[in-house]
Amino acid sequence: MPILNADLHCHSVVSDGTLEPEVLAARAAANGVELWALTDHDEIGGQHRAAEAARAHGMRYLTGTEISVTFADETVHIVGLGFDADDPQMRRGLEDTRGGRGERAREIAAGLAKVGIQDAYEGALKYVGNPELVSRTHFARYLVEIGACKDTSEVFRRFLTEGKPGYVPHRWASLKHAIQWITDAGGIAVIAHPARYKFTANEEFALFTEFKAHGGRAVEVVTGSHSAAEAVRYADTAREFGLAASRGSDFHSPDESHTDLGKLPHLPAELVPVWELLADRIR
Ligand code: AMP
Ligand code: MN
Ligand code: MN
Ligand code: MN
Repeated sequence: MPILNADLHCHSVVSDGTLEPEVLAARAAANGVELWALTDHDEIGGQHRAAEAARAHGMRYLTGTEISVTFADETVHIVGLGFDADDPQMRRGLEDTRGGRGERAREIAAGLAKVGIQDAYEGALKYVGNPELVSRTHFARYLVEIGACKDTSEVFRRFLTEGKPGYVPHRWASLKHAIQWITDAGGIAVIAHPARYKFTANEEFALFTEFKAHGGRAVEVVTGSHSAAEAVRYADTAREFGLAASRGSDFHSPDESHTDLGKLPHLPAELVPVWELLADRIR
């Protein structure tokens, strides 16, 4: 298999990115991406647009999403690739997963009001492209706008993570269900950015073990969220668990993302790229 510039993780205005799917497609193509997937959080409303735009730019395309899952009291993200975007079980599962976000957003705003930040719900909504998908990122953009913090990372650190005033614990989909929705719809489940989770070694082992047991088949090794050392570490984990490897920028916005579409190191040569398992699903 020749080396391929695949970028299988990014976000549009359909979730918490700032660009329309068509603009992302143009940017990916300009950056040399050959195989692309748009992976909006808990949402596949941008899939048909993304696939069409990819075709117009001569890129190959895999359907994608990034499902929010609760595992061991921590939020874990499971990327799904190559599934049927019209699959009813998948659509219903994602709809349920999105369901609690409106109420959660109200609670985030209430927490922020207690520390003197008023009207954050209305403020966040100005940045929301999809009313069913209000995310912490939209609050972060509003807090930067009003000068509460210099950038979104600072907002997360000071206001939106565990123990901070705008943090609201939330129960997302189960690992088992997320994997089931993806695989029953003909796709492959991928553990997103594993280095980002605050797991003990035992919890991480349990995540990979249960992920495999439920039918998960790949892990992100090269991502915008990993250092070079973390990529090496999760290349080892992929081998240890017999998982294929994925590669994706996790691009959200030209102003916020330090890794641009397609601008990533290649996967270590000895790993099986996830797209080799998806040859018949590539459009
Ligand atoms: P939510 O799904 O509403 O909990 O929002 C999660 C999103 O917030 C992630 O997908 C990231 O885009 C963003 N995010 C999480 N942690 C950080 C951070 N420390 N700095 C910047 N963005 C973050
Ligand atoms: Mn995001
Ligand atoms: Mn993620
Ligand atoms: Mn992501």
